Amino acid sequence: MASPVRVRFAPSPTGYLHIGGLRTALYNWFMARKHGGSFLLRVEDTDRARLVEGAIENLYASLVACDVKPDEGIMVEHGRVESRGEFGPYLQSERREKHLAYAYELIEKGHAYYCFCTKERLEEVAKNQQLNKQPVMYDRHCRDLSVKDAENRAAVGDEHVIRLKVPLEGSIVMEDMIRGRVEIPWAQVDDQVLIKSDGYPTYHLAATCDDHDMRISHVIRGDEWLSSLPKHLYIFQIMGWEAPQYAHLPLLLNADKSKLSKRQGDVAVEDYLKKGYLPEALVNFVALLGWNPTADREVFTKEELAGLFDITKVNKGGAVFNIEKLDWLNGEYIKALPVDEYLLRLSRGGFMPEGVMQERAARIVKDRLVRLEEAPGLIDDAVAMAEYEAASLVWKKSTPEDAKVRLEGARGYVAAKSEAWFADVKMMEEETRAWIIEKGWGNGDTLWPLRVALSGREKSPSPFELMFVTGKDEALARIDKALAKMA
Ligand code: GLU
Repeated sequence: MASPVRVRFAPSPTGYLHIGGLRTALYNWFMARKHGGSFLLRVEDTDRARLVEGAIENLYASLVACDVKPDEGIMVEHGRVESRGEFGPYLQSERREKHLAYAYELIEKGHAYYCFCTKERLEEVAKNQQLNKQPVMYDRHCRDLSVKDAENRAAVGDEHVIRLKVPLEGSIVMEDMIRGRVEIPWAQVDDQVLIKSDGYPTYHLAATCDDHDMRISHVIRGDEWLSSLPKHLYIFQIMGWEAPQYAHLPLLLNADKSKLSKRQGDVAVEDYLKKGYLPEALVNFVALLGWNPTADREVFTKEELAGLFDITKVNKGGAVFNIEKLDWLNGEYIKALPVDEYLLRLSRGGFMPEGVMQERAARIVKDRLVRLEEAPGLIDDAVAMAEYEAASLVWKKSTPEDAKVRLEGARGYVAAKSEAWFADVKMMEEETRAWIIEKGWGNGDTLWPLRVALSGREKSPSPFELMFVTGKDEALARIDKALAKMA
């Protein structure tokens, strides 16, 4: 029987969930769902200098908001960070003893070594390499120290790191599920630090050992890690472990094809959610960065995407983060929301001004929104009554006399309607247009003065939408004010 699919999202807790991180999490989640496997969340926090307070909670909240929750690993419940599952702990720093044991095992096997080079020496080496236009890498000064001597120095507290002894010749051939065959000459691979001078493992050692210990079957991660794969695979090889399969996802790019960066727009998932991008729209959009299961469709639920997911079909080239497409998708998702759900999201997002007319206006503006954050402005516009001159009430192809006749007619017409009539924009429009024809009047010369009377503005929602917002009494009051101006 094939071993179960076990995939992991392994972010470093930098403070927020990056858009690229969301895509990585999603592809892992798809993979797990598609194959009935498990999706793990492991937090890689061994870079102690870069710890950010509250980062895990924040990252987890963004995953939950997007409904991409782990089956195993780190979970935050009632504000507490917990490790859940039989292969824990899932907070990498809590696995340090295991990492150290593996590092010593590598030394014992002759595949790793103590390095006592000082920072100053390493800087000097790097400077000279730069001057000579050579690639900057460790010059392997300590590689051949006797293990005994090195152990003695380490035992008396001589500051050191532990490095991987990578082969000096030949090359490594790797199979990536997206890239296919990748060959990297060992000459390009550094003797990677495995244990830092603070006694913590580097990402490379920790992630590799954890992937083994957690029985990870597929590693799906960002493209930036492809160049590290030789070191990771080498560790698997010399430890005699079976390596997972790897897939490196294409870079996310700005419109100008530069690497997606904060300078050109938001990169944190929470920033998009705060603006009123719906999580399901963001998920749909992000999932299609670098992959599309069909040529003729853009709107998918994440469950549909999981069903269609095929990691080998992900593009190799970078994926442009096209904000116009996200805007379009978000508008489509807002339109498709049931009205009650939409109103709930507005109020949860803090986008719902108080008031009866405001709530009605929220319904009117729904299909015009790109982001929920635009709602308060559009709602205010639909509710507000602007100051205006009597002349504004006259349509450009009409006369003050006719405008007055039309508006008086409209007042009588509207006054005869029941309250319930004002609750249906479509019906109001159909009936009113029929009534205008019956009167032998025109749409422009009748609806213009009515609309300006209801809004005070030459540009506004339609008179039917405005009457829906105001209701009967307020509509009549506004029309009466207009008539008074015309007197
Ligand atoms: N901690 C790494 C990161 O922050 C994870 C890379 C991997 O998935 O191996 O991206």
